[in-house]
Amino acid sequence: MSKQKPSYDAGRIEASRQEVWERRGDYEAPTPGEGQARVYIKPSSPFTSGNLHMGHVRDYSIGDAYARFRRARGDAVLLGFGFDAFGLPAELAAIERQEPPADWVAQCGERMLGQMKRLGFSFDYDRVFYSSDEGQYRWSQWLFLKLLEHDLIYREDATVDWCDTCQTTLASIQVEDGRCWRCHNEVRLIRRPTWFLRITPYLEENDRNTERLQNWDDLALSTQRYILGRSDGVEVDLEGDGGPLTVFTPHRGAAGRADFVLLSPRHPQIDAWVQDAGVRDELDQMRSGGWDRSARDARSVPVFDTGSAVVGPGGSELPVLVSPLVDARFGPTAAFGIPAVDEADRDLAARIERVPSWEGPEAEEGEVEGGEAPDAGAVEGAREAKRYRANDFSISRQRSWGTPIPVIHCDACGAVPVPEADLPVVLPRDIKPTGEGNPLAERPDFVDVECPRCGAAAKRETDTLDCHFDALWLWVPAAVPPADRAELMFEHPDLKEWLPSERLVAGGDSGGFVFDQRIVTKALRDIGPFAFMEDGEPFAGCLFHEMVIADGRKMSKHLGNVVNPDELVERYGADTVRLAILYAAGPAKTLNWSDGSLRFANRFLRNLWTYSQDRFAALEDTPHDAEAAADTEFMRDRLRKWCENGLERITADTEQLQMHKAVRNITRLFERIQDFEKRVAKRRGQLDRADAEAQIAALVLLARALAPFAPHTAEELLLASGLDEATVLPARWPDSAPIPVTTESPAPSA
Ligand SMILES: [Zn+2]
Ligand SMILES: [Zn+2]
Repeated sequence: MSKQKPSYDAGRIEASRQEVWERRGDYEAPTPGEGQARVYIKPSSPFTSGNLHMGHVRDYSIGDAYARFRRARGDAVLLGFGFDAFGLPAELAAIERQEPPADWVAQCGERMLGQMKRLGFSFDYDRVFYSSDEGQYRWSQWLFLKLLEHDLIYREDATVDWCDTCQTTLASIQVEDGRCWRCHNEVRLIRRPTWFLRITPYLEENDRNTERLQNWDDLALSTQRYILGRSDGVEVDLEGDGGPLTVFTPHRGAAGRADFVLLSPRHPQIDAWVQDAGVRDELDQMRSGGWDRSARDARSVPVFDTGSAVVGPGGSELPVLVSPLVDARFGPTAAFGIPAVDEADRDLAARIERVPSWEGPEAEEGEVEGGEAPDAGAVEGAREAKRYRANDFSISRQRSWGTPIPVIHCDACGAVPVPEADLPVVLPRDIKPTGEGNPLAERPDFVDVECPRCGAAAKRETDTLDCHFDALWLWVPAAVPPADRAELMFEHPDLKEWLPSERLVAGGDSGGFVFDQRIVTKALRDIGPFAFMEDGEPFAGCLFHEMVIADGRKMSKHLGNVVNPDELVERYGADTVRLAILYAAGPAKTLNWSDGSLRFANRFLRNLWTYSQDRFAALEDTPHDAEAAADTEFMRDRLRKWCENGLERITADTEQLQMHKAVRNITRLFERIQDFEKRVAKRRGQLDRADAEAQIAALVLLARALAPFAPHTAEELLLASGLDEATVLPARWPDSAPIPVTTESPAPSA
């Protein structure tokens, strides 16, 4: 009699498992037991755009599989999550829909959380937070005040990148190839009073630590090095019209062959070198915009001659030029122009009258020219030196959907910090931005206040903090129980349990966020609250993954190639989508989405489902014969070895978050289990009960190994194998392959 075998109905299976998880609170962050490893896994924090895109699905499928794996190994796991809810994307969407951004953000968050639950991601949903909640941005303001108090935030009239389309300033990290990170239009430079985050004091430590980080994959590390932008070389102290000047070059042996010196327009001593009124105008023009940030090519980048000179290392006078090309290469410093060895310098020289054009032979950088010794231009007294391209960045925005900056401007006292007891400075919830100007500045109920110091009439700062600032600490709140967050955030005792995060899983484009999160952790360590994180590193491990594209191009509404995860889940089920996105490519590779991997994953799950159900059902009616069992014992032993090897590989793959390999090894193990049956049948005509039992043990092992990746299907299969709910959950990760090989009764002698 064959039992009723349910067909693979992903919708039904997934709803039933999710109901159990939610009812039992399986994924609430546990109180760690004695000696239990604490693992805080931090996936990326999305903007509240209203829809998960496939990049999110990739991110959370990796993070969730890793979280489930660590839980199955007996570790205390916190899979925390929050929304980066302030900022332009939400504000612009709200303008389009003519509603307050707060309402838009709430709707979007709700919808996205629904999508995440439907995909079966095991976040602790009770801990979800929005950076735009009053209880959250109160702490962004607290952080601002602390950093201000410790001179890590400052305000100055500065040249900043400005996007005309978005009507706001941008941090240089938000300018990609001269274009706005959000709207991709060209940006220009303007001068205005601006708040800055000072990162320079921690660049060297970030540099040192980057070389020591364990469990960071190559992609993540290379982004950290790129953002740091370190150049090694030598520096020389010179004297000239503007006083002393220290000049750097990456060409160690060539400083003596310099033809000019190039100053950054942001060099701290620039004013001493720009005296002439006409030259002053040139500098102002360079600073106030008018030049295209994408023109970093030395043949078109802005450059002007100050008319000043320094006495070069060889005693000859070197003209002093100004160009932002220095910033793009070495940060806001001064550098030697050495056309003899540097192609960019050669191009610049050709554009400046006072500098002789380079007539020497063309050569690659660093190559020896004209048969001279490699150190022909070495300079006595040159010191080893390095420069970092990374620099302090602006955190001021002239938009209304952001954390209000807790500062009051008083005519008598200047910029006065809002006292901590007066936090939060509340952002009016009913603001309806129009896209024109900053509506905060037009609200007397927000702007007009008393000076906290002298009591005179004063004005609130109306710049808000860029969401990049909120993101500096977005990895913290999930580790604090929601009920305690109002009272205690940065000093909550649980932080010592969960921090640093064991693993950050984020998109390859989050390098800038991560770099600055590493900086601010060091600042908070030195200020006090994070003193327990000695190395100042928020993430003990880090996995960056590339994005998901379609038809070889970035997904966009414009191109009509957007893959909607909801439609895929509706059609194939969450497990298929998760498995497909994990299987399709390794994290370091851009994933070009195709339905091929989807069909592969779906076929695998259906086959495994039907095959396992059939074997579970047939076991009861499978006869046992001692002689037959003895004859196939070596085959069962081989099955055991296959299982052991497979498990070992899948475990190692998953530990290293190489989920594409793990999934491939899972599908291979299934092939071997099928192969075992074929071989036994070929030898004996049919399986003995001993063979069937071994095979079922192998299928159960396979289901356990599948559980982190396709949790609904795997758990339902474990239940179907006869395990009860309590044994299945939490599903334990097998540390060995318990495949029965020998039979109970010894085989009769021949
Ligand atoms: Zn823009
Ligand atoms: Zn005052």
